[in-house]
Amino acid sequence: MALYVMKFGGSSVGDTERMQRVARRVAEKQDEGHQVIVVVSAMGDTTDDLIDQAKLLSPEPPTREMDMLMTTGEQISIALLSIAIHQLGKKATSFTGWQAGFRTEAVHGKARIIDIQPSRVLEALKEGNIVVVAGFQGMTDDGEITTFGRGGSDTTAVALAAATSADVCEIYTDVDGIYSTDPRIVKNARKLNEISYDEMLELANLGAAVLHPRAVEYAKHNQVRLVVRSSFNHNEGTVVKEDAHMEQGVVVSGIAYDKNVARISIVGVEHVPGVLAKVFGSLAEAKIDVDIIVQSGDQEDKADFSFTVALSDRENALKVIEGLSEEVPFREVTSEDGLVKVSIVGAGMVSHPGVAAQMFDVISKQGVNIEMVSTSEIKVSCVIAGGKLNEVVQALHTAYGLDTDNQAFVGGPKDRR
Ligand code: ASP
Ligand code: MG
Repeated sequence: MALYVMKFGGSSVGDTERMQRVARRVAEKQDEGHQVIVVVSAMGDTTDDLIDQAKLLSPEPPTREMDMLMTTGEQISIALLSIAIHQLGKKATSFTGWQAGFRTEAVHGKARIIDIQPSRVLEALKEGNIVVVAGFQGMTDDGEITTFGRGGSDTTAVALAAATSADVCEIYTDVDGIYSTDPRIVKNARKLNEISYDEMLELANLGAAVLHPRAVEYAKHNQVRLVVRSSFNHNEGTVVKEDAHMEQGVVVSGIAYDKNVARISIVGVEHVPGVLAKVFGSLAEAKIDVDIIVQSGDQEDKADFSFTVALSDRENALKVIEGLSEEVPFREVTSEDGLVKVSIVGAGMVSHPGVAAQMFDVISKQGVNIEMVSTSEIKVSCVIAGGKLNEVVQALHTAYGLDTDNQAFVGGPKDRR
């Protein structure tokens, strides 16, 4: 007998029929002799709809009330799913996040989990229940309701798996697993059988929306065995674990892209100690994440540098820099959009020189200029103009031997987050 945590996203429980399908799936698992904890998201577009409703009333609703509102989506799901499981003649009990023992920091909208005391969950399991837990929610020590941020139900599932020492945490979604790249761009993208936490983290952060990055961090930290698989079939999915040894000779496991990129350039800055610290310190204070930083054009005592931020942070970043013009004199600050970041990710890179050079070569053969580059041990990212993104991703996919003969199966409607 094993203990499974099975997490189903919004599209997997989008309507009554799908809810029944999930009920059958978890009942089946129990029939195989296992204990089952199910974590569910809000049905379909519920969370977005709730947010829209609030925004009709106020452009900036209080974050406390937003948490109060959004957590109802998951509560509907757990009650309905438990009812559906009962109808199959099985015992089921639903718990909100706080009933399941999730204690969080006192931050609304993006609270971190402090601790989980899952005694009620374990008790209900012992009594033969399928336990159904609401995703992405917890409570502060003061009894305030909090949420973990959009897509946070993955984190609920992984954290619960860690806290209950579950044997495996299965994330059910509407695709067959983690792919070598976006199957909407590359028709013969490969489903990966396994991938390491570190590779998955890079891909998750780079916008492969299947798994929430914080959930992957949590899984790595607690060594939770994660499986990403489809709720629409019984295919095996992708195992995420520490020592995923990728197929022999595979250097690059995946190719990700991010369209949410703006570049900001500051020209003619005094070349003296402390300038970068001042600029990036101020951006950090304004909670603006800076990604790639490049310094160039170093003439005599002046330097130019540019960096990338999320498109949505562009205006704010420009304001911060303008605000520094007294302390850090510069000649000009400009910004650019229409850029994308393409990245190759693979644990095998560590021991293979020339991977980056090959990437540059492939991109140049598409007639595309590389604007910026950044590297880590297991990743190379290039910022390029967005116009030829699809061609570049396809060419890289082919060059690194990732194409398969099969057309990638992409299941039901796109999963929410
Ligand atoms: N329902 C929440 C959202 O849409 C949490 C989740 O689905 O993971 O972001
Ligand atoms: Mg999700």
